[in-house]
Amino acid sequence: MILADILAARGRIAGVADRMPLVPSPFLSERTGREVLLKLESMQATGAFKLRGALNAISRLPAETHGVVCCSTGNHGRAVAYAARQRGLRAIVCMSALVPQAKVDGISALGAEVRIVGRSQDEAQVEASRLARDEGFAEIPPFDHPDVIAGQGTIAFELVEARPDIATILVPLSGGGLAAGIAFAAKLLKPGIRVIGISMDRGAAMHASLQAGRPVEVEEVPSLADSLGGGIGLANAHTLALCRDNLDATVLLTEDEIRLGMQALYFEDRLVTEGAAAVGAAALLSGKVGPDDGPAALIVTGRNVDMAAFAEIVAGRDVRLGDITLKGRAYAA
Ligand SMILES: *Cc1c(COP(=O)(O)O)cnc(C)c1O
Repeated sequence: MILADILAARGRIAGVADRMPLVPSPFLSERTGREVLLKLESMQATGAFKLRGALNAISRLPAETHGVVCCSTGNHGRAVAYAARQRGLRAIVCMSALVPQAKVDGISALGAEVRIVGRSQDEAQVEASRLARDEGFAEIPPFDHPDVIAGQGTIAFELVEARPDIATILVPLSGGGLAAGIAFAAKLLKPGIRVIGISMDRGAAMHASLQAGRPVEVEEVPSLADSLGGGIGLANAHTLALCRDNLDATVLLTEDEIRLGMQALYFEDRLVTEGAAAVGAAALLSGKVGPDDGPAALIVTGRNVDMAAFAEIVAGRDVRLGDITLKGRAYAA
């Protein structure tokens, strides 16, 4: 990948997925003794930054493409559905029978066909691969693809142009498409800028893979930051190397710390965010990312959270996470 790929992606997403607001956080700035800015990717039409990558990848498909397929039930699935509709393409999202109806409805509402296959994500993936192989659908991967990475990297241009003095960018980290794109572009635009990837401390596949020097599998456990779950793919071809070469550090957070991030963004900045989107705020409040000289930009990645669950979390009630209960804690500044 070269910087020109990201510049080209900027043109392809213009007017649809670009220029999300960059706003100050007076509370986090006061609390950390440095200027803190929030990049509100949660304001995207689909509620998350993934529209950038999906739109770029889908815009680059050859003219004869008749449809796209993916098997994400989350923010990538929404992004693919939306971007395909923009281009007038058929979209099929493959899911297992265990996916909650609300997610099925959310994706169908964006105009995609939902195909229910089997009882696991792996079985859904088999059907997606079959559609790609036998029926000529283009498969759009959630992170490990140059066009997806380039789309996410457009965020770095917007940040550095708006505020050339930004010293640190805090990026939620899962498969690493977002972190790879942002870190790659930001370092070319402004050598010396720091880019830090942030994950939950249980099931952080990219962190474990960076440590091991190769893609490793981790056990997926329920987390407030559910959008950060899942592996990086044992055949990872792009994001692991880009994260290894361009990220300055990775930071891991407890569920308690992530909850505090969600609560602070809600009560202080009046934002509704997913757990995954609040990890930047959480990393600053926990002190795991300390002050350095200059402003910090946090990527607030998405808002697609179940509102009933969100209300419980910000109210500080007990939260069930699979087999464990996160004991309630009311917000205190
Ligand atoms: C996908 C996602 C991430 C992580 O992005 P990767 O490219 O997989 O690292 C972070 N936050 C939200 C809300 C997401 O949907």
